[in-house]
Amino acid sequence: MGSMPGFVSIREVGPRDGLQNEEPIPTEAKVRLLDALSRTGVGRIEAVSFVHPKAIPQMADADEVWRRAERTEGVRYSALVPNTRGAHRALAAGFTEIEVVVSASDTHNRRNVNRSTDESLDDIAELVELLHNAGARAEVIVATSFGCPYEGDTDPARVAGIVDRVVRDGADRVAFGDTTGMATPRRVRELVTAVRDRDAAVPVLMHFHNTRGTALANLLTAIELGVTEFDASVGGLGGCPYAPGASGNLATEEAVHLLHDMGVDTGIDLAALIEVAELAEELVGRSLPSGVLRAGPRTRLTPLPG
Ligand code: ZN
Repeated sequence: MGSMPGFVSIREVGPRDGLQNEEPIPTEAKVRLLDALSRTGVGRIEAVSFVHPKAIPQMADADEVWRRAERTEGVRYSALVPNTRGAHRALAAGFTEIEVVVSASDTHNRRNVNRSTDESLDDIAELVELLHNAGARAEVIVATSFGCPYEGDTDPARVAGIVDRVVRDGADRVAFGDTTGMATPRRVRELVTAVRDRDAAVPVLMHFHNTRGTALANLLTAIELGVTEFDASVGGLGGCPYAPGASGNLATEEAVHLLHDMGVDTGIDLAALIEVAELAEELVGRSLPSGVLRAGPRTRLTPLPG
């Protein structure tokens, strides 16, 4: 390993990305999850998305969830929006950090929003301007950055071209989504290198999925390449939309457990986070894929009965 950074910033995405890919749960349960996460020491939370309720019924109550949630000092909350209409809702709700998504794969983008990647990029340019004019920061998430379930592997040069475009259009940060868990350390290295060659200065965030068991290896590789911002989802909430029963988002407590052991601070209280993962499991009513949730912290040595 190269030298490790002193601090890695984790954005907890369970309340949005996670819950959006689970069976709908009551508003009250969403608020409980959000509030419990706010008390773990995590610095950033993706709280809700402002999407059409028919498209994503899991987020139909986003306004109410956000109105009822505690705003914890020291936590930066963000929202994801699909379009201008969502952006206006997010701004009206008081968000100043907003994420928009485009897929590197044309087929994936068309299946999601019925537009080509290029057409979505035109919309994003307008959205970024709208957000900036309202005093908000705009992050562009590039979905299927490593691979697409329809098109296969994604060419890093194509992703770097998209980054170049959105940086020119004013994006404040770029995130790379491994939507179906196709990233490997080799591909992480190729992508980060391709992006840095064209846009050395843009802040980069990685969103890894553990669908094929590579999320932590990818995280360490990205850290070696200088990336210090990552998404993760408590308990691994979320699943994989393309493979029923498969795991999706990297579990936050797995990332935190590994990072703390390597002397990298995250600001997060791991024991508190594991308790929230237990709560998340209870709220969604299914067992979640996190290994650290199953095994507990390293010092929990009480043998199970029998
Ligand atoms: Zn995800």
